[in-house]
Amino acid sequence: MLARVEVNIRKLHENLLELCKTSGPTQACVRMSEKDARVKTDLPMETKIKEIVQEFNEELTGDRKPSLRIVRHMGNLVVIGGVEVANRGQKLEIENASELSEHEIKAIRKIPVVFGAHLDEITYIIANRESSILDGKVYRILPICNPPKIFGVGPIRKIRCEDERDKKPKMLIVGHVFNPEGRVVGFRSGEFKDNIGTGEVYKVDIEEEKKRMSEKYLLLKLESKNVEIRKGDMVIQDYGDWKEKDTRRGNSCGVVRSKALDDRVGCIAAIYAVKELSRRGVLSKAVLTSSEEGVPSDISWGRLVQATYSEFCTDDIITLICDGMDGRELTEFKGERRELSKALIIPYTSYGKGGGDVGIFSLLRDEILRKLERLYGKRIAATSTDYSSRSYDVKVMDRWTLIGFVQWTCGVPLDESAACHNEETVNPTQIVNIIRVLVHSAEYFHKTGNKGQGGC
Ligand SMILES: [Zn+2]
Repeated sequence: MLARVEVNIRKLHENLLELCKTSGPTQACVRMSEKDARVKTDLPMETKIKEIVQEFNEELTGDRKPSLRIVRHMGNLVVIGGVEVANRGQKLEIENASELSEHEIKAIRKIPVVFGAHLDEITYIIANRESSILDGKVYRILPICNPPKIFGVGPIRKIRCEDERDKKPKMLIVGHVFNPEGRVVGFRSGEFKDNIGTGEVYKVDIEEEKKRMSEKYLLLKLESKNVEIRKGDMVIQDYGDWKEKDTRRGNSCGVVRSKALDDRVGCIAAIYAVKELSRRGVLSKAVLTSSEEGVPSDISWGRLVQATYSEFCTDDIITLICDGMDGRELTEFKGERRELSKALIIPYTSYGKGGGDVGIFSLLRDEILRKLERLYGKRIAATSTDYSSRSYDVKVMDRWTLIGFVQWTCGVPLDESAACHNEETVNPTQIVNIIRVLVHSAEYFHKTGNKGQGGC
């Protein structure tokens, strides 16, 4: 008989919002190593994950259960559970992969299942100042991951600019993207600055731009906070539930609305699952990656996931990825009036062009889901073949092909605005159900596959 997974949903909600508030721009979530030349201290995301895991460890130690460890490797974090640590009760520190012994690495490699999720969030790079724009200081910003596609939701603005060819003044029509509040962050001589300034993200909508196939994003209404905004700084989103926290009475455990839910939801689900497995004495691991792989492929840090997999995973590792699916594409859930509470198990991504293994999918569907329905009822999870973007599998699937997906969904099915990176909302019950599926799946694969014996 399986033992039920119980999750404190209030605490989960709180941890998730804390994680969403923390800056984690693409490529700047985790230091490469202890020798990372860019910064002398941990990046904000490392510190936040450490805080959450430290709290888990206090709880686990109190219950005399094994604690969790965090290892930094090539810009990714590996969270490992089920490990007896000699210095029990001591303050958790992120370990550098280079400091682990061969024996420790071998023991981590043998864990047969890995959970995967990405830590980064919508990020733009500040490019040139738009000198052709005559109304104040405006920068062009370049998205380095999929930017919000919906724009013009607020009032359309016209700004004065100079025509590139004849230098005559003309009006440029811009519309702001969904949730346009931006925060400028960046590196300054060995320090990561978390709050350089603020601005609003607008997209240019003129026929001419469309013909050129270029999408032009601008940062308007700039305000710097005692530090000059410079080319090469990064812009992340800066809105979320925390702003409304006090005004949304009775909603402390309701639907979560925040930026960066994609894919902090997956990250929080993965580390909660590692904690629960540790409580059960099952070895487990999660790889939290510093970028949403393959978007865009030429500058993505996806290749660094391969390095972390090479170090910490065997060729027959089973990967369970948790990432978001757009509510507006959920045709199979037509008629649902609110965010889904079931975890979604899907066979493949990008209609088959992304990764996914049908054999792993069938085990999740036929073996694991059936058992879970007996334990928790029919509302635990569902299968879906609706569209899901490729997530983090693209670069790893050539070598580590055994990939299954336990997905969360953004917004209400078929709602036009319910798209990751636009208006992000999630039902916390769905996250609890994802944690349950991850925990029981890991237990299942531990029993049926390589048992991953040996402490580290
Ligand atoms: Zn994602």
